[in-house]
Amino acid sequence: MGTIGEYPHRATLSLEVAIDYSRFVTRLFKPMTSDAEYMMHAAVGIAGEAGEIIDVIKKSWVYEKALDLDNLAEELGDILFYMQAMAGFYRATLVEVKPLRGELETVTLRQIGNKIFINAAEVLAMAVPPLPNRARMLRALGYVLHYVIEGAHYCDKTLNEIIFQNQDKLTKRYPQLFYRDADAIARADKIGEAGASS
Ligand SMILES: [Mg+2]
Repeated sequence: MGTIGEYPHRATLSLEVAIDYSRFVTRLFKPMTSDAEYMMHAAVGIAGEAGEIIDVIKKSWVYEKALDLDNLAEELGDILFYMQAMAGFYRATLVEVKPLRGELETVTLRQIGNKIFINAAEVLAMAVPPLPNRARMLRALGYVLHYVIEGAHYCDKTLNEIIFQNQDKLTKRYPQLFYRDADAIARADKIGEAGASS
């Protein structure tokens, strides 16, 4: 089983899962009218989910509520969906998106959220024509991935587990396993949930 980068104990993203997930995301990511629109869709998706991640964290440190680890794991899955969509533009899976190398920092949960957001904003800034080359964009995604891995570790989950949960959710939302506006609006996976989050 292949794992990413220097993170054998934390990342645990297997090649098989990454390839299967890339196909899954290709089926469910809404087709767009141009490369520029596709990339902007993926980029605002990454940015939006980064905002949702820091919002989950904010609720715990500002409001002193218990950290909602399930919700944090869900939002990490959501951002991976859009990250795979962007990587897919370059015919890459998440295994080819390398997180930062070197010694792991000791980061707090707040830093994890903030770093995901800051690096997601950088990806958003880059996702305009002329679009960056593959190496440049995969490196930018790697900065986000580094802290997504830290977040997953905080949730005591592997990237494989985060991805499986995202696939479960979206399989409920899109039972035909392809994108439909009506299914995106109906959000069948959220029916019956109080205070459901996206
Ligand atoms: Mg979300």
